[in-house]
Amino acid sequence: MASIVIIGGGAAGCFCAAELSALHPDWHIRVLEAGQHPMAKLAVTGGGRCNITNTFEGVEALAKVYPRGDKLMRKLLGRFGWKDCLDWFGNHGVEFTAQEDHCVFPVSQDAMQIVHVLERQMHIGGVELMCRHKVISIDKGLNVKYLHAGKEASMKADAVVLATGGGTAGILAGTDIELIPSVPSLFTLKIDDDALRDLMGTVVGSVTLGLVGTRFRSEGTLLVTDWGISGPATLKLSSYAARWLAQEEYRGSLLVDWLGGGEQQARQILEELGRNGARMVANTHPPQLTDRLWRYLLSRASVRAGCRWNELGSKGLARIVNTLISDIYRINGRARFKEEFVSCGGVSLSEIRPDTMESRRIPGLYLAGEVLDMDAVTGGFNLQAAWSSAWVAAHSIHL
Ligand SMILES: Cc1cc2nc3c(=O)[nH]c(=O)nc-3n(C[C@H](O)[C@H](O)[C@H](O)COP(=O)(O)OP(=O)(O)OC[C@H]3O[C@@H](n4cnc5c(N)ncnc54)[C@H](O)[C@@H]3O)c2cc1C
Repeated sequence: MASIVIIGGGAAGCFCAAELSALHPDWHIRVLEAGQHPMAKLAVTGGGRCNITNTFEGVEALAKVYPRGDKLMRKLLGRFGWKDCLDWFGNHGVEFTAQEDHCVFPVSQDAMQIVHVLERQMHIGGVELMCRHKVISIDKGLNVKYLHAGKEASMKADAVVLATGGGTAGILAGTDIELIPSVPSLFTLKIDDDALRDLMGTVVGSVTLGLVGTRFRSEGTLLVTDWGISGPATLKLSSYAARWLAQEEYRGSLLVDWLGGGEQQARQILEELGRNGARMVANTHPPQLTDRLWRYLLSRASVRAGCRWNELGSKGLARIVNTLISDIYRINGRARFKEEFVSCGGVSLSEIRPDTMESRRIPGLYLAGEVLDMDAVTGGFNLQAAWSSAWVAAHSIHL
């Protein structure tokens, strides 16, 4: 009987096991999971609601949502895309709803429903789930060495799927497979500016963020927090610049365009606001900004309280424009984003065959999920990468 070992009982590993057991009911499939329970992370995804995938409707270019792995994802999505994912879980009784922002959740709003479906399908398929089995290495002969109950042991397989998630590619350190060092992605930024922090809770609809001296730019909603900034625009920037920020030890200069549209847009808006020259500048703010944020930005632009539009002069106007479109803050570290967190880095994508997810160097070894140097911004894209890569791996194992 063919023996398959899947390492890692997370989203990718369990999905691969469920699919593989349905394709080959006569194979002996084992899942080795280091933790006490499988899919502990999947259970808390999307704040416990599981943002399982995305309809990709708002996606102009895959590279914008997969800063690492967009080319591979193009191929994988062609084989097993978001609709296939919904069909798969739909066939097992899950109903879905897509939000306005194109993120897809189960109607139950319960990640445990997804966990239970995968557990059930693995059970039906006769998958042997071995928790508290921590794999320490794999060699070229597909010998898997692991620790269980304090003892070291090994098992040999006809095929191995490595699906141990982010930051775990070190399991392959004894092989000559290229590993890209892991660094965090999807985090928020610490900014030491008490006046900004006083605006905690302020949301600005569409800002553009950048890192001074780089080409990293992101657009979207910004949230001011008690430690600095968060929200989709910040998380995207952290994802795009994950490696750069790690190299800089999470220090740098953040550039904020508060209106998101550059100088021309800012000037047009100010022109409109200043039509009634006798009004006080502080009393008429751009519709995108709150009253408090506007007053804060005016103080940064050194516009005195009580100044009227007709007293600003071209220099005063230029200072406001400048503050609106290129407001600079010192980044002073990162903070964990509790809703989602992934790592960038892992097994180099040049090491795998994109049509099968098989290792080029170790035939019979397949890779799926976040253990690869492939990760996405928030929105269901990371789990879709796990489903797609695991499905392709499952359908490529032929013994
Ligand atoms: C709080 C949080 C919320 C998230 N929410 C979302 C969301 O809503 N939508 C989305 O798309 N993405 C989300 N993500 C990201 C998403 O969870 C991951 O991208 C996804 O889980 C990756 O799947 P995986 O199977 O590759 O890895 P994991 O889910 O991390 O699974 C890997 C498994 O391998 C096991 N393992 C590790 N090392 C070993 C070893 N040596 N031996 C044996 N087993 C091992 C681990 O215990 C784990 O169970 C979220 C992440 C976090 C942290």
